[in-house]
Amino acid sequence: MNAILPGATVGVLGGGQLGRMFAIAARRCGYRVHTLSPESDTPAGQIADRETRASYDDLDAVREFARTVSVVTFEFENVPAAAVAAAAKFAPVRPGGSVLHTTQHRLREKTFLSEAGFPVTPFHRVTTEEELRSALNALGAPAVLKTAGFGYDGKGQTKINSAEDAARALDSLEGCEAILEAFVNFEREVSVVAARGIRGEFAHYGVVENVHVKHILDVSIAPANVSPEVAREAVEIARAVLERLDVVGITCVEFFLTRGGKLLVNELAPRPHNSGHLTFDACATSQFEQQLRAVCGLPLGSTEMLRPAAAMANLLGDLWQQGEPDWLAALRAFPGVKLHLYGKRGARAGRKMGHLTALASTVEEAARTVRDARDALTRRTDGGR
Ligand code: AMP
Repeated sequence: MNAILPGATVGVLGGGQLGRMFAIAARRCGYRVHTLSPESDTPAGQIADRETRASYDDLDAVREFARTVSVVTFEFENVPAAAVAAAAKFAPVRPGGSVLHTTQHRLREKTFLSEAGFPVTPFHRVTTEEELRSALNALGAPAVLKTAGFGYDGKGQTKINSAEDAARALDSLEGCEAILEAFVNFEREVSVVAARGIRGEFAHYGVVENVHVKHILDVSIAPANVSPEVAREAVEIARAVLERLDVVGITCVEFFLTRGGKLLVNELAPRPHNSGHLTFDACATSQFEQQLRAVCGLPLGSTEMLRPAAAMANLLGDLWQQGEPDWLAALRAFPGVKLHLYGKRGARAGRKMGHLTALASTVEEAARTVRDARDALTRRTDGGR
């Protein structure tokens, strides 16, 4: 397999911030970028050389798009299988359609993981009230009911404490296939972002610790505060998952670390991940450049951290509630903090608008700095503007 060299055009399915940061990395390396998504003036399209606005179901548009590129990757894993198959007739799609097929559906993903022997919390498939009741009996309460397909950031997800909750939650699913999972009383959540090249080469960014608020990632801290044994095990699980799935590209493996010190895989994302955003500033090669290198068949880059610790804080639309955040105050008070904004117009509550990254000598200092910098965005005290 020949490498796809700088000067070539890389196609991205999806138009969000992951595609935007990928496009920044790709253009820096001298590639051209063509995106396809159902919207225009998207975060990725603003950076790309070319933006196609088309539905993923418009297979003629997908074929036309794929004809113009040397390789197709994606930044949004809910691309329909038919679109991937249509694109694959004209250009390699990396990671391949089978990786998407497995990971875009929670039930298929958990079934794959458990059949392959990876540790997951016990789960059952449910579509009817009877199945839900018997699953709840088997797993015990509390449990978490999730839609099988198309879920992210806790969307389509309900905690169930009793049989009454179960009936209500099932109604809200309106007949969709679902998965009931045993609730994990975790000590912390961690993730491993890793890359696999076209010849099976592997690189990883170590273990990152993730703090969620209302099911949405709030802060990521690297390296995670876990024992060397847990860190080694998490990386070995990630390596084995990428190999089993035959990933070419980036995949994030999200874990629960239980109070007993056991790792359970929660979710897979076969693309750059929010918990890897800190690699943009903190590592010799970001997860986005690594995705480019992997899908183009280039040698994988060094994942070495430039400072001992890093932290990332998401900037959600909520920060805009009292008006535009005070960029000047935060940048003035924290000159070492890096600001990333995704070029989105509508600042809705819960919408990921950007993030901040801080590097430091210790994880405590990095986490404190990035949180303080974010607080400074909405602390309306200065008159110095
Ligand atoms: P998900 O969309 O599956 O990644 O879930 C989003 C967040 O919900 C996770 O990061 C956890 O904080 C929480 N969560 C999901 N599943 C469970 C579970 N089985 N037990 C406890 N918390 C969960």
